[in-house]
Amino acid sequence: MAESYKPHAVCVPFPAQGHINPMLKLSNLLHSRGFFVTFVNTDYNHRRLLKSGGGPVGSPDFRFATIPDGLPPSESEDSTQDIPSLCDSTSKTCLEPFCNLLTELNTSASEAGVPPVSCIVADGIMSFTLKAAEALRLPAVVFWTTSACGFLAYTHYKYLVEKGYIPLKDMNQITDGYLETTLDEIPGMKRIRLKDFPSFIRTTDPEDFMLNFAIQQTHVSHRATAIILNTFDALEQDTLHALSAAYAPLPIYTIGPLINHTTTTQAAASLWKEDHSCIEWLDAQHPGSVLYVNFGSITVVTRQQLAEFAWGLADSRKPFLWCVRPDAVEGSGAALPPEFTAEVRDRGVVVGWAPQERVLKHQSIGGFLTHCGWNSTIESIANGGLPLIGWPFFAEQQTNCRYSCVEWGIGFEIDNDVKRADVAAAVRELMDGDKVKKMKERAVELKRKAEEATAPGGSSSVNLDKLIKDVLLR
Ligand code: UDP
Repeated sequence: MAESYKPHAVCVPFPAQGHINPMLKLSNLLHSRGFFVTFVNTDYNHRRLLKSGGGPVGSPDFRFATIPDGLPPSESEDSTQDIPSLCDSTSKTCLEPFCNLLTELNTSASEAGVPPVSCIVADGIMSFTLKAAEALRLPAVVFWTTSACGFLAYTHYKYLVEKGYIPLKDMNQITDGYLETTLDEIPGMKRIRLKDFPSFIRTTDPEDFMLNFAIQQTHVSHRATAIILNTFDALEQDTLHALSAAYAPLPIYTIGPLINHTTTTQAAASLWKEDHSCIEWLDAQHPGSVLYVNFGSITVVTRQQLAEFAWGLADSRKPFLWCVRPDAVEGSGAALPPEFTAEVRDRGVVVGWAPQERVLKHQSIGGFLTHCGWNSTIESIANGGLPLIGWPFFAEQQTNCRYSCVEWGIGFEIDNDVKRADVAAAVRELMDGDKVKKMKERAVELKRKAEEATAPGGSSSVNLDKLIKDVLLR
């Protein structure tokens, strides 16, 4: 009887937008290839999705299920949850509700048209799912939604601790030049500096939760059946070789950029309401003339940083589209100074949440000021072939910024201690400067290589087929 069932993939993202988006793209792909999909949200995010109108849009064989995230109820239900607290609570509390969900799915199987669960695809930092998969003897694939370079950098945290590079002796080491220390011994990472490692090394506490969580989660991935990355071989060849060696014999499937694959299924899950009005404004701008500014779903800036960016953008005199989330500024609301709004009225648009993929594809966009989140970086490469200014905030954004600027040559960084004059100068350079010509060419070349990777016969296409055939349908 079982042979007549569809394969059933249970997909479990880490509950933050930058993890939900790529997992959903992969789930859409699996559904288009004939899988029954159960996409597991947290209760908190599911309520937000229903409110934002951005999803979830399911179908009879693409369903959403929920489990609690283990955090106490929060005052606001409209903001990004604290990431370390989420990592802590999901890893400690989600296994039991997840096992209950799997039992429920398997018991409802025949009567409700739900096939028995046949594989689990979970975020790399939701490794509690591996225990459930082991108990049910199911293939379990971990999807690290980072770049390969970011992932590789996390896998070396343990080495950095063992060699005494971290934790820091004191926090002054962040500014006294210590982080410029260059390491030549990391396989796959040429002349990487301490400052290019994901931000959780910036601690003096050997027990620091995120530092140890990353060490533990990268280690637990060895128990998976396979690893998936949203990148492509031509972009991260050296890092991928090093990762493959580190995780051998586990296969690593590079299947990105996920946004390049065409799918018949288009389930969406935006936690904020997308403001599409900016597209009309973009339609009226000159090709390549607009700077897009977006720091993703987690970054929270101080009021001073917000003001420096605002006046830097105003002083650059360039048209811009800037996304300032309602929860993007420390303390109360994301208010921009009224004088700023008046000053940039005819050349700047500020939205709370942008339809980023549409924006990056738009012909009016000529450059991207970004926090270098991995989704934003790969979406920018795949959609726009855009040069960028990097202002990394946390996690592996530092590594992505280093690779974007130095290895791929598609951008340059501005100082973390942001100043309006630097922003204005950097924006003018990005939009008109001579040295950016080469970066634009590189970015367009990478866009072309990304297209090749996801075209029939390309590396990511072939890997996706193999992942399905050799692992998920095994
Ligand atoms: N995003 C969006 N609209 C926005 C900001 C972000 O749709 O205004 C999406 C973006 O396309 C990406 C994700 O949210 O898929 C952000 O992920 P990323 O890894 O870039 O950054 P994070 O939010 O994890 O810091």
